[in-house]
Amino acid sequence: MNVTGTIRQASKPMRTDTSKGAERGELPELAGRSPRVVTDGESLRQAVLAAHHAGQTVGLVPTMGALHEGHLSLVDAARAECDVAVVTIYVNPTQFAPDEDFQRYPRDLDRDLALLGDRGCDLAFVPANHEMYRPGHATFVDVGPIGEVLEGEFRPTHFRGVATVVLKLFQLALADRAYFGRKDYQQTLVVRQMVADLNVPIDVRVCPIVREPDGLPMSSRNAYLTPDDRRRAQALYRSLRLAEELAAEGERDVASIRQQMQRDIEGTGGVDVQYIAFVADGTLTPVETIAGPTTVAIAATVGKTRLIDNTLVSGNCSRGL
Ligand code: AMP
Repeated sequence: MNVTGTIRQASKPMRTDTSKGAERGELPELAGRSPRVVTDGESLRQAVLAAHHAGQTVGLVPTMGALHEGHLSLVDAARAECDVAVVTIYVNPTQFAPDEDFQRYPRDLDRDLALLGDRGCDLAFVPANHEMYRPGHATFVDVGPIGEVLEGEFRPTHFRGVATVVLKLFQLALADRAYFGRKDYQQTLVVRQMVADLNVPIDVRVCPIVREPDGLPMSSRNAYLTPDDRRRAQALYRSLRLAEELAAEGERDVASIRQQMQRDIEGTGGVDVQYIAFVADGTLTPVETIAGPTTVAIAATVGKTRLIDNTLVSGNCSRGL
């Protein structure tokens, strides 16, 4: 890895014969290019100001690295809508509780930079902890009740850490748009609320969930799953599909759908459900009857791994159509 405190080009990522470029018949060294890597906030800000000065729009994709197609779909969206795509890679300690997986969270910067290069990302911001949290850092964003339910009930300090680091990244990057995944449904609401409440001049875009072939949403934490966990984890998506099917068949009673989901999951075994929530889409307001677009969100632990997923069901009945 080749990064310093000032703007410079990352080392050319290693390419192998199995790289996408090689498949396309290109010489390995011509496939993709490394994004420019900056590690300090001032260099990031200057790079974005220079882009704005040149009349370019800038899209920001905050991530914690260990990149997969879910992250890369956000890069694609940023590239499609903006002139310059900036990806941040930072495992933010303040959004992890002391008993969570901050230390063992997967980290592979060289691989991440190679993937970003292949996807045409222009700039990667890879700050060290002291760059994001100066000694004596004491200010946090309190997101209020929206951070206390669902995920917040099980991770009480999580959204405070998320909102704080996202606001800091927004302040440093001064981007025009920021891209988030619907996989973290509640996070998208927290970010939108924070942007509205604190008058942050950025357009928040939310992109669809990217899934593995077996339906599991792509996640850096999927790496923790044993093959047996992985099989059990499919119960989450299966239960969401069941909710979709029941709603499409005209079932409107949330209690009934939730019960059938729970029964289906219990049949798998080894999946410890923390919540199955039905909320009016775009909010965290619980619904008892499906009368319009409704997000069904689920959280469960499988083995030692905590997983979340969600889907959108509508109040339209597709039966007989
Ligand atoms: P993370 O690195 O887990 O903090 O995720 C960074 C961004 O990628 C967040 O906006 C996530 O919601 C988004 N993301 C993670 N996994 C997926 C996925 N499977 N599909 C779409 N977006 C995702």
